[in-house]
Amino acid sequence: MPVASLAQAIPFFDYPATFQTEEEDLLAIVRETGRRGAFILQKDLARFERNLAEYLGSRHALGVANATDGLLIALRAAGLGTGAEIIFSSHTMVATAAAIHFSGATPVPVECAADHLIDPDAVEEAVTPRTRAILVSQLNGRTADMEKLGAIATRRELFVIEDAAQALGSKFRGRSAGTFGLAGAISFYPAKMLGCLGDGGAVTTNDDLIQERMVALHDHGRGSSGEIAGWGLNSRLDNVQAAILDYRLKKMDAMIQRRRHIAAIYRQYFKGLDELVLPPGPEDTTGHFDVYQNYEIEADRRDALRDFLKIRGIGTILPWGGKAVHQWPSLGFRAKLPFTEALFDRLLLLPLNLSLTDDQVTAVSTAIREFYRA
Ligand SMILES: *Cc1c(COP(=O)(O)O)cnc(C)c1O
Repeated sequence: MPVASLAQAIPFFDYPATFQTEEEDLLAIVRETGRRGAFILQKDLARFERNLAEYLGSRHALGVANATDGLLIALRAAGLGTGAEIIFSSHTMVATAAAIHFSGATPVPVECAADHLIDPDAVEEAVTPRTRAILVSQLNGRTADMEKLGAIATRRELFVIEDAAQALGSKFRGRSAGTFGLAGAISFYPAKMLGCLGDGGAVTTNDDLIQERMVALHDHGRGSSGEIAGWGLNSRLDNVQAAILDYRLKKMDAMIQRRRHIAAIYRQYFKGLDELVLPPGPEDTTGHFDVYQNYEIEADRRDALRDFLKIRGIGTILPWGGKAVHQWPSLGFRAKLPFTEALFDRLLLLPLNLSLTDDQVTAVSTAIREFYRA
């Protein structure tokens, strides 16, 4: 079988391209902020926080070091910790559960549903007298049915916190991911919807008291007037990164449109391939606006398909290294989640990023058709 030449290779994600396509502008931003000595908690960060909050329709947005810290800070600000059980979907990054773990609370994994996001029925079944919150992962650039989850939370008197690390710009019934719960976390890891040149994140809230606590928690416990309000972390978003993010945030709508366009190409090419289950949308009549942080398919003969694509120079990855959170023995979970476990034998992430040309998306699609129809 011919091995694809490097020129034809389609990597799962092209990290150098994220820098090279904007190299001059990025260097100008670094030069300009650097010459001002504007490194920590400066005006560029404040401006980005304002613009991000406005973009989301959130009352507050606070830059933090990364989304994992953001989740931990949100949980602590909500007073969640030892003795509390917090429900999350096991189909998420380990970071979601790690934030719960380090808050002192107990992470309780549950099944995802057909759209790969947390299953509201499974949430309902997992509630105990110790349950205090639902941590909803807005996975793959899709926002969960927050009306259903919100109704459960209200009825059972639970907080909702959102892991919106993958979902900046995604909406449900016109409202942005990260604005439904008491607080939400967004990631600026380079491969996320809005990436910076390293680690970065933000936490959002509509609640002034939660915001005040999160401000202190992310900066050594310091309140707005400088007094130490309690124990805190050092988890600030670097000012230079914020300046870069503010520059990129202006391109957000175009970036989302491009991702949705690629998803539409995939959907069109895979029409009639019963061996695959595709993500929902992009056309939708049920209120979801998906932004395709990932294109996560279910595939028959998944491993053989993956090998077939690899030989053709097409990079794919298994979500979370191939296991749901509760399946890692080192973490000590005892839950059995048959739906999620069976799903993880079939999940595959196809390339979906801003470096791809339409021709490359077509090449990926054609190769997959070839695999099933040869
Ligand atoms: C990326 C990601 C995180 C962690 O974000 P960091 O900014 O890298 O800490 C958490 N949850 C989900 C679902 C993610 O995709």
